[in-house]
Amino acid sequence: MEDLQEKISTIKGVGPKKQQRFLKLNIETLEDLLYHFPRDYEDRREIKKVRDLEDGEKTTLELQVHPLKKRRAFGRGPSLLQLIGQDDTGRIVITFFNQPYLSQKISGGMKLRIYGEIKRGPRGLETTNPDFILLDEKQNNHWQDIFPIYPLTKDISHKELVKHIKVLLESLKGKSDKNPFENLPKDLIDKNKLCQRLMALENIHFPKQAKGLKVAKYRLVYEEFFFLMVSLNFKKVKVRQQQGIPLGGEKEVQTFLQSLPFEATKAQNTVIQEVLQDLKGDIPMSRLVQGDVGSGKTVVAMAALVAAASGKTQGAMMAPTEILAKQHYETLSGFLNPLGISVGLLTGSLTAKNKKLMQEKIREGKIDVVVGTHAVIGEKVEFHNLSVVVTDEQHRFGVRQRKTLSQKGRNPHVLVMSATPIPRTLAYILYGDLEVSVIDQMPKGRKPIKTKTSPMKDRDRVYEQLKEELNKGRQAYVVCPLIDESETLDLKAAMDLHQQLGKNNLKDYKIGLLHGKMSYKEKEQVMNNFTEGELQVLVSTTVVEVGVDVPNATVMVIENAERFGLAQLHQLRGRIGRGGYQSYCYLLHQPVKEHTGKRLEIMEQTNNGFLISEKDLEIRGPGELFGLRQHGIYNLKIANFFRHQSILKKVQQDVKVLLQEDPKLILEKNKKLRRVLDQKLQRYRE
Ligand code: ADP
Ligand code: MG
Repeated sequence: MEDLQEKISTIKGVGPKKQQRFLKLNIETLEDLLYHFPRDYEDRREIKKVRDLEDGEKTTLELQVHPLKKRRAFGRGPSLLQLIGQDDTGRIVITFFNQPYLSQKISGGMKLRIYGEIKRGPRGLETTNPDFILLDEKQNNHWQDIFPIYPLTKDISHKELVKHIKVLLESLKGKSDKNPFENLPKDLIDKNKLCQRLMALENIHFPKQAKGLKVAKYRLVYEEFFFLMVSLNFKKVKVRQQQGIPLGGEKEVQTFLQSLPFEATKAQNTVIQEVLQDLKGDIPMSRLVQGDVGSGKTVVAMAALVAAASGKTQGAMMAPTEILAKQHYETLSGFLNPLGISVGLLTGSLTAKNKKLMQEKIREGKIDVVVGTHAVIGEKVEFHNLSVVVTDEQHRFGVRQRKTLSQKGRNPHVLVMSATPIPRTLAYILYGDLEVSVIDQMPKGRKPIKTKTSPMKDRDRVYEQLKEELNKGRQAYVVCPLIDESETLDLKAAMDLHQQLGKNNLKDYKIGLLHGKMSYKEKEQVMNNFTEGELQVLVSTTVVEVGVDVPNATVMVIENAERFGLAQLHQLRGRIGRGGYQSYCYLLHQPVKEHTGKRLEIMEQTNNGFLISEKDLEIRGPGELFGLRQHGIYNLKIANFFRHQSILKKVQQDVKVLLQEDPKLILEKNKKLRRVLDQKLQRYRE
């Protein structure tokens, strides 16, 4: 096993420079190399006749070579070898460039098998630099009937990859008497009739026939899901073993719900019941509430916080940005103060004195509910008796932050709220340590946002439409994308756009700018101006993404929308359509590749966040969607949550049984699995 964790540089012919290039393909270790799967295959099994060839097709031919027609070399320039190949139906011109040694190797009368692209030229059919073998030559291991096509990077050739993978597989085969490379438990291999790991790897790279490939894929998909599920559920078991603080509060929560100016939706009520049920237990709650933007998650959060206060304990609510924290603070104060629940705001931008004062009140238990940003979990904050923690817009928080907060109290109940809706089964998997509730219903009377994708050439027209809304008294957002990882560049893009719009398209309107490099005070000032209507248009980087609530804003223009993921576009779009007015979202995009255009069209077709994230997931995978590390356990290489659902179900069941029997994976038979798992977890530090 250790062998495969060795760096790729242990391969002969891979020096430091090559090593860097391999890294571009995310190949660091020998194991990575073996798990660099072909993205497609060329089936070269069918041998065509010259008579049946069509212009442009790629195919295999078996030909006899005629005495060479021409053999030229342009001095020191590229060498050229031209042959006539013939079968019993016709002839074709074969040209080899730059392979001077071939003239030694190939001579008239020999039989070749070639694979190449056929062109019809002035001299009839031809092909250039085809892949080939001499049929009389016995030791020909270069030819593959089913030829792997790999994802490549600039400085790594196909041939190179094929060679290294082949050599590596050969060397493993020599050692595999007792199959030390197997990484799945034997009973699961037997139960699911999986093929061995080495065989799977051989077949995924160099399949001999379709069946072998199918069997290999099945095994590798199983394997990938298996390690994902084991690592996630392994964590879940740990949470379950803690002691929590049982809470009641049904009556108080009812009173709270009756005090709302609207009636809670059926979905909200159901989820609140699920939460209250959890809170009663002595195992700490660990629940994810999913609901589309605007579905009313805050009401559920408040219900949990009311329950905390009803038991004379404290609750905390965390938001990813100060703006959002402030907004929650105002909402919560408005609804909870009348019920006799005190709410405090704790953020990084408080003066030192006020911060200290607030911390003191929290420690003494004078504040029932604390709202804040990360500062809430800052080391100095001590709670009197924290029992419920709500984190809003979870995908912005690292798993680790959630953990730190849990450690603040004696295992407080944790409620996580996410506006990135994902299919429930998938949520179970990705947030393996959480139970899942879904608010699958919108409050009454919302008008669906109208969305339109427009190419850049229609930009002026789009801004005309935006102005029409402004003239009616509405407000608008203009979002410019993340250019890069670099905030400085983003900042510049936002400033340029702000300036350009001020000079041209939106000359006569009041425009503000909001970006991530502004201080909290500056941001707050701009947001306030926008909320109060003193600004008509807010040009912004993605800092407006989460939570911000200005019901009078009814237009959003997103520039270079092709650079965003669908889920993120949906989040952004959620800033409008929050009041009674019809809202419009325009997605401006560069001329894009066909599939990107299709991708954006999904936004026109639906306002349903579940559907959208499902598409996003299909297209980009969970790593991107959840902002998780690219190169990690979540980065599935072959398994697909949608295509392979039935395998996923089997894995789920198998992992459940496995961890029931041996939650800590300490039984002798699971020792090896534990080692493999630790290795993976360590590498990806999840
Ligand atoms: P999100 O799920 O995006 O966090 P919010 O909790 O911010 O949504 O709710 C969006 C808006 O809808 C708020 O103004 C809120 O007061 C309102 N709202 C929430 N629940 C209902 C309901 N049942 N009926 C009408 N309006 C509601
Ligand atoms: Mg919200």
